[in-house]
Amino acid sequence: MKPFGYLRPASVTEAVRAGASHPGARFLGGGTNLVDLMKLGVETPGLLIDVTRLPLDRTEPTADGGLRVGATVRNSDLAAHPLVRERYPVLTQALLAGASGQLRNTATTGGNLLQRTRCPYFQDVSKPCNKRVPGTGCPAREGAHRDLAVLGHSENCVATHPSDLSAALAALDATVELHGPEGERTVPVTAFHRLPEENPDQDTVIRPGELITAVTLPPAPDGSAQLYRKVRDRASYAFALVSLAAVLTVRDGRVQHAALAFGGLAHRPWRATAAEAVLRDAPATPETYARAAAAELAAARPLRDNAFKVDLARRLTVDVLTELT
Ligand SMILES: Cc1cc2nc3c(=O)[nH]c(=O)nc-3n(C[C@H](O)[C@H](O)[C@H](O)COP(=O)(O)OP(=O)(O)OC[C@H]3O[C@@H](n4cnc5c(N)ncnc54)[C@H](O)[C@@H]3O)c2cc1C
Ligand code: SF4
Repeated sequence: MKPFGYLRPASVTEAVRAGASHPGARFLGGGTNLVDLMKLGVETPGLLIDVTRLPLDRTEPTADGGLRVGATVRNSDLAAHPLVRERYPVLTQALLAGASGQLRNTATTGGNLLQRTRCPYFQDVSKPCNKRVPGTGCPAREGAHRDLAVLGHSENCVATHPSDLSAALAALDATVELHGPEGERTVPVTAFHRLPEENPDQDTVIRPGELITAVTLPPAPDGSAQLYRKVRDRASYAFALVSLAAVLTVRDGRVQHAALAFGGLAHRPWRATAAEAVLRDAPATPETYARAAAAELAAARPLRDNAFKVDLARRLTVDVLTELT
């Protein structure tokens, strides 16, 4: 592993200043992704700025009935928080569907959102990869892509974003709070992760030196039922082939509110806006749910070996919505 410096800043301001003055620096959360990538030679930061001692470890209700989650809140703590379990069960379910107990005890909210793709070529420095080294090519497109994207991919990259938490946050209309050298800003989770387009090396819209300080959830829609379901090769300790975070409100047999976000299908959590448009004010029936899934998945462009994901996503959508009705 390449030698690196280590800094434990006392404040957010000091952390951001250090990030801005060391272009090769990386913020260190639980390290469960970053340190693995350093061992593989994929990440070679000159400086690690450990943010886990900053006062960003609180989960607090907001004045409007929502919730503000600090960036260093551990995944286990967030999953177990009484207000999350009560108002945002889809979040608890998504977190508990990810990784292992030990990893969740260490992994942070901010680090989870910024975890890198699990594309095997990205993790192997002996192979070309546009995401790791721009302009070198995308061997996954013709190679091992069974687990990779069917929606929103480009000629340059067909990777998927691996976070379960991100899909739940996208369905809940959460926002990311950022603190950077140029000040503070907020970005909706649905606009935080990017599609690969011409520059797959950029996973998100985060700017150099910006620190995630919190994630804010609006109040959960009144009377909503919520579910996160993840389909994977093993029953645990595996990334999603397809997952779905769903928030559904049904009144008098009709869909009043629906928010759906897929994981495992694209370079970002995929908010299913075409499906939501079909669901709005429609009868809450399996037929409607099948039409909604078809509307969303009409945009799918499967590769040679991953067309099965489109069918999985279709059946998952109908099953999850039927269960929530
Ligand atoms: C074996 C294994 C199985 C896993 N299975 C799953 C799974 O099924 N589902 C799933 O969702 N995840 C899974 N994970 C991934 C795991 O959830 C992530 O590694 C973890 O959430 C990352 O959080 P962290 O705090 O450890 O991040 P780190 O590794 O510390 O950081 C990750 C990235 O985020 C950046 N970063 C960290 N905090 C901040 C911040 N506050 N502001 C700006 N940048 C920041 C770092 O610089 C780095 O680039 C698995 C991991 C392993 C090792
Ligand atoms: S899919 Fe993306 S991450 Fe994987 S090899 Fe291609 S460019 Fe790299």
